[in-house]
Amino acid sequence: MNEKVHIIGSGFSSLAASCYMAKLGYKVVVLEKNASVGGRARQLKRDGFTFDIGPTWYWMPDVFEKFFGDFGRQPSDYYKLEKLDPGYQVYFGENDSVYISGNLEKIYDLFEKEETGSSKHLKNFLDVAKENYDIAIKDLVYKPGVSPLELITPKTVTRVSQFLSTIRTQVRKNIKNHKLIKVLEFPVLFLGAKPSNTPGFYNFMNYADFGLGTWHPVGGMYSVVEGMRKLGEDLGVTYETNANVDEIIVENGKVTGLKVNGERIFSDLVLSGADYHHTETLLKREYRQYSESYWEKKTFAPSSLLFYVGFDKKLDNVEHHTLFFDTDFDEHARTIYDDPSWPENPLFYASFPSITDSTFAPEGKEAGVFLIPLAPGIEDTDELRDKYFDLIIKRLEKLTKQKVKNNIIFKESFCVNDFVKDYNSYKGNAYGMANTLLQTAFLRPKIKSKKVKNLYFTGQLTVPGPGVPPSLISGKIASELIQKTRS
Ligand SMILES: Cc1cc2nc3c(=O)[nH]c(=O)nc-3n(C[C@H](O)[C@H](O)[C@H](O)COP(=O)(O)OP(=O)(O)OC[C@H]3O[C@@H](n4cnc5c(N)ncnc54)[C@H](O)[C@@H]3O)c2cc1C
Repeated sequence: MNEKVHIIGSGFSSLAASCYMAKLGYKVVVLEKNASVGGRARQLKRDGFTFDIGPTWYWMPDVFEKFFGDFGRQPSDYYKLEKLDPGYQVYFGENDSVYISGNLEKIYDLFEKEETGSSKHLKNFLDVAKENYDIAIKDLVYKPGVSPLELITPKTVTRVSQFLSTIRTQVRKNIKNHKLIKVLEFPVLFLGAKPSNTPGFYNFMNYADFGLGTWHPVGGMYSVVEGMRKLGEDLGVTYETNANVDEIIVENGKVTGLKVNGERIFSDLVLSGADYHHTETLLKREYRQYSESYWEKKTFAPSSLLFYVGFDKKLDNVEHHTLFFDTDFDEHARTIYDDPSWPENPLFYASFPSITDSTFAPEGKEAGVFLIPLAPGIEDTDELRDKYFDLIIKRLEKLTKQKVKNNIIFKESFCVNDFVKDYNSYKGNAYGMANTLLQTAFLRPKIKSKKVKNLYFTGQLTVPGPGVPPSLISGKIASELIQKTRS
C-alpha cells in the first residue's frame, strides 16, 4: 500500500496514530505547526533547567506498555521509568500535610490514622475501582465511540448505577474526613470535570492512583515524546515541524489535500490530532459537523496558569509532586465551571522534578512548575499572571515554612492566551473536553467525519478523552477505525 496519510499535529494522540498508521502500511507524514513535536507535552529548557511544559504525572503505566507492546517493544527500550515513593504530598494547611505512599498498605495506614474505620471503606472502594479499571482499560476505552452499544457488556449492565451516581456521592458515602475526601476526589480532576459531575464509574482513576502508583520517566514526559518519535521514525514516519496547516481541501465531499504554510499539497487521507474545534475551522462551513453553539454548550476541561521557575537552592518540605489543597475546592471549582472568573483563593499544584531527577536542574538548584486550574476563555493579562504568582509563592513560603522569593533566578508563564496561540486550543482549554456522563464514549465528537470522506480526528476532544494515556489510546482507535472503514 502506498497511500499517503497526513496527520495534523504531533501531540501524544498524533504520535501514537503515526506509529499505528505506519504499521498498517501507510506512508505517514506528521505536520506540526510548532518548532518541536509533543504538542501540549513539549519541553522548555532554560539556563541549565528543564521543564515539562504540560503533563507531569505518569499514571497507568500499563497503557504505555500496551502501546509499545503493539510494536514488539517496551517503554524501557526508550526511557527509564521509576516509581515515586511517596507518589505525592498534599498540603491542607501549615504543618498539615499527608504523603501518599507508593505502597498501598501504607495508604491504608494513613486513612486509618486520619479516620478510624476508613481503611475498610477504602479497601471496598478500591476493590470496585480495580474491577472498573479492568473493565474500562481492557475493553471500554478502546472502543471507537461509534455506537451506544459499545458500552453495553455483561459487566457494565450490572454497573448502571455507577454511571448514574457521581464520584462525589460515592466518596462521601462512607468517608467523612475532609482531607481524605480531597485526596479521593483529586484523581478525577484529570478527567476535566468536577467530582460532582463525573460518573462514579470513573473511580477507576482512584485505582490508577493508589493501586498502580505514580511513576516518573527519567528526563520527564518529554522522554516519552522522544521515544514515540523514535519508534515512528523506525517505522518510516516523517515528522515535519514549523508546518502550519491553513486549510483542509475538500473536493466533491472528499479530502484531496491540505494547504501547509500557504502551499497546496496532495493527500489521500487526513487525520487531525489538533483540537477538534480548530480542525473544523480549517474546513469550509458546509463541511463542519458541529456548530459554534454545540461547542459553547460543552463542558471543557480547565485552562491553567502555569509558571516554570528556576530556584538557586534546593527547596525543603516539598515532594516531586505537591498539591496545595489548603483552600475551598468547591469555591475554586465554581469559578472554573459555573461562573468563569479568577479564583480568590485558588488550589494549586507544584512539581519539583529535580528532587528525584538530577537532569532537571543544575546541582544544588531546583526546577519548579506551578499550575492553577482556571476557567477556559477568561481574561489573561500580565498583571493577573504576576498577581497570582505572588499569591502562590507567598502560600508556598507559609505552608512549607521557608523563604524562596529571593531565590528565584527566573520565571516563565503560560496561560489562556498561550494555549490559544501555541495549540489553537478552543478557549485556551488545557486538556480538552471533560468526561462528564453526557460527554462520554459515543456522546463525544466523532473520530470519523460525517461530512467529509477520508477525514478523521483523534486527540483529547474525541474518544476516550483527556490525559496522556487516553491520547495514546485515541491514536490507536482512530487508526483502527480508519483501517476498518476504508477496507
Ligand atoms: C498543563 C497541562 C498539564 C497536564 N497534566 C497532565 C498530566 O500530568 N498527566 C496526564 O496524563 N495528562 C496531563 N495533561 C493532559 C495531556 O497533556 C493531554 O491530554 C495530551 O497531551 C493531549 O494530546 P493531544 O494529542 O490530544 O493534543 P495536543 O498535545 O494539543 O496536540 C495537538 C497538536 O496539534 C498542533 N496543531 C494545532 N493546530 C495546528 C495546525 N493548524 N497545523 C499544524 N499543527 C497544529 C498543536 O501545535 C499541537 O502540537 C495535561 C495537559 C496540560 C496542558
